[in-house]
Amino acid sequence: TALLQGQFAVITGAASKRGLGKATARLFADHGATVAILDLDEAAAKQAAADLGPQHLGMACNVTDLQGVQQVIDRLIEEWGRIDILVNNAGITQPLKIMDIAPQNYDAVLDVNLRGTLYCSQAVIPHMRARKQGRIVNLSSVSAQRGGGIFGGPHYSAAKAGVLGLTKAMARELAPDNVRVNAICPGFIATDITGGLLTPEMLDSIKAGIPMGRPGTAEDVAGCALFLASDLSAYVTGSEVDVNGGSLIH
Ligand code: NAD
Repeated sequence: TALLQGQFAVITGAASKRGLGKATARLFADHGATVAILDLDEAAAKQAAADLGPQHLGMACNVTDLQGVQQVIDRLIEEWGRIDILVNNAGITQPLKIMDIAPQNYDAVLDVNLRGTLYCSQAVIPHMRARKQGRIVNLSSVSAQRGGGIFGGPHYSAAKAGVLGLTKAMARELAPDNVRVNAICPGFIATDITGGLLTPEMLDSIKAGIPMGRPGTAEDVAGCALFLASDLSAYVTGSEVDVNGGSLIH
């Protein structure tokens, strides 16, 4: 059965072809949702939306731009009348060691992953509160829980740990208004986020740490996002769900 029939979902950073956001958008659409794909490049966002079907929207949006985010969300609320689901998926990473993190590295990684999650959430929260209904799904990472060791540097671990704290605090504050907020902590998923910087040696050592013996797929993460965005998880809020093939059994 369709778990999101008639619902409207916004997914940030979902234009990346092999990415987690695109796979999530596709699964949500398969389950009856109308999806807006927000990403930096307008043409790529529109193309990704068109891949899903004519009713879906692709829009340019930089999640670090407070005003820009608010404008896009306001336009969507006007067009659709409602937003039921926000997936804060836009993210970047850099494989740096602690002493190599320059101010601009810190700013870039913290801004997209953490500030962007805050801004996009702030843009939809008044609307969700007013309707007494909403679900927010944030993309954290196993890097936040185990202190890196996958691909991203310490600034990425810190940003994604920040996302976990933000998730739990928002879940607490928004629960009385029936807005649920949860985080997904993916382990290593083969996407383009590594930007060609992943060496065969890195991949071997990552694989050696995965009990299930394989990297995750974007669909592995999308399934978890569907659970958290649908009524299957009606009593789940403030949780962090591991999708990591057993990389962090604790
Ligand atoms: P990806 O690089 O394939 O896609 C990320 C998308 O975010 C891109 O389309 C990019 O254009 C967009 N983006 C970047 N900066 C943006 C900005 N300022 N505003 C709007 N969009 C922006 O990455 P992915 O692997 O699909 O990762 C998706 C999310 O999952 C990220 O938050 C990432 O940190 C997280 N994650 C990924 C993995 C993994 O192994 N791939 C593991 C843990 C967590």
